Amino acid sequence: MTQRMWREHDLKSRYDVVIIGGGVHGLATAYYLTKMGVKNVAVLEGKYIGFGGSGRNTAIVRSNYRTPEGIAFYDRSVKLYEQLAEDLNFNVMFSQHGHLTLAHNERGVTGLRERANTNQLMGVNSRLISPDEIQELVPEMNVFGECRFPILAALYHPPGGIIRHDAVVWGYARGVDRGGGEVHQQTKVTGIETRNGAVCAVQTTRGRIETNTVVNATAGYAGTICDMVNIKIPVETHPLQACVTEPLKPFLNAVVVSSTLHCYVSQTDRGELVMGAEVDDYSSYSLRSTLHFLEGNATHMLELFPFLANVNVLRQWAGLCDMTPDYSPIMGESPDVKGFLMTVGWGTYGFKAGPASGELMAQRIATGKVPPTLAPFRLERFYENRLVGEKAAASVSH
Ligand SMILES: Cc1cc2nc3c(=O)[nH]c(=O)nc-3n(C[C@H](O)[C@H](O)[C@H](O)COP(=O)(O)OP(=O)(O)OC[C@H]3O[C@@H](n4cnc5c(N)ncnc54)[C@H](O)[C@@H]3O)c2cc1C
Repeated sequence: MTQRMWREHDLKSRYDVVIIGGGVHGLATAYYLTKMGVKNVAVLEGKYIGFGGSGRNTAIVRSNYRTPEGIAFYDRSVKLYEQLAEDLNFNVMFSQHGHLTLAHNERGVTGLRERANTNQLMGVNSRLISPDEIQELVPEMNVFGECRFPILAALYHPPGGIIRHDAVVWGYARGVDRGGGEVHQQTKVTGIETRNGAVCAVQTTRGRIETNTVVNATAGYAGTICDMVNIKIPVETHPLQACVTEPLKPFLNAVVVSSTLHCYVSQTDRGELVMGAEVDDYSSYSLRSTLHFLEGNATHMLELFPFLANVNVLRQWAGLCDMTPDYSPIMGESPDVKGFLMTVGWGTYGFKAGPASGELMAQRIATGKVPPTLAPFRLERFYENRLVGEKAAASVSH
């Protein structure tokens, strides 16, 4: 008989840890908890695992961020991704074929130079390259031809690349199951109970569960879960759209990103081009994709690759992004409600962070201590004016 990837269970009346959200963050946290011996863990997913951003993202993984705190954190995640297939015994199809961020003006070049310097100081492989080198890496790109925004330089990050997002989610879910934890789909959390300022239970569409530790891992829906315990977080939810073309003969052996043109592209192992842009500029929970996005994205993409003019787009879609003011996540325990933890604020860039945030959140829960790499991302930073400003490195760069 074929073995199922993960089993179905009756809901128990008590768990040591309840994780809300079956995306990469919820599942990775549960996986590393079970590895650390905390096995009475349930991941509660209102729909199906991967329904959220984890099944809708464009799967770019990289660590060439801007701040020392961000670089250290994302570098840990890339390292965990490099071992993940072996760790989970599941092929996650991680292809580290390199990542290029283009600069089209002098300010852009200065920003990328700053990033390259900080990356190198932190031991991350990233450097500024000239138009000649860019053309060598991506011969089909319009580097020297006529264009509105000339390409002056790029930040080249060889360890960056793409991964198969579904495989990561499924692999982690299987890992949770094999480690002794439980994954519950179609189980929506409808309320959280507190007693004396501490979490004591969650209400779900399948019944009430007692617990003293709840993790909010719901990305675009994070604010709705925080409302259940009267916590305000500085997060705005915006749709983010992407699209995929028909398969083409392989020609693009790097992820190409331009924040001036607000677009990025990679080619999958099946030959399709996966393209995206910046978040929609309105706040919404809508999962509809729009013609406006498609037109804008195509216009900008044709600046870089004019020969794609007759290529068909097969599919477009949208997901929700929980954007923080500094474009960095919020991880850790709420200062106001004991036992209420968050791994949210993952915006347009959180898929790459799943392994590191899962590992650090699991350490935080299992040991009660805040790991140093996690500390800069606590909620209190917004009240202490200690922001981790990643907008220059995080926006369209995913
Ligand atoms: C189009 C697009 C492209 C992107 N590209 C990239 C990229 O290239 N690289 C990158 O690193 N990141 C990218 N991202 C961002 C990335 O997808 C997210 O940051 C990441 O997936 C968030 O993961 P998560 O586990 O926190 O949340 P999600 O995967 O969104 O999971 C949250 C889950 O919570 C569930 N939920 C909500 N409310 C409840 C409730 N009350 N009870 C139970 N369950 C609930 C939802 O159903 C959902 O499944 C992109 C996002 C989009 C939309």
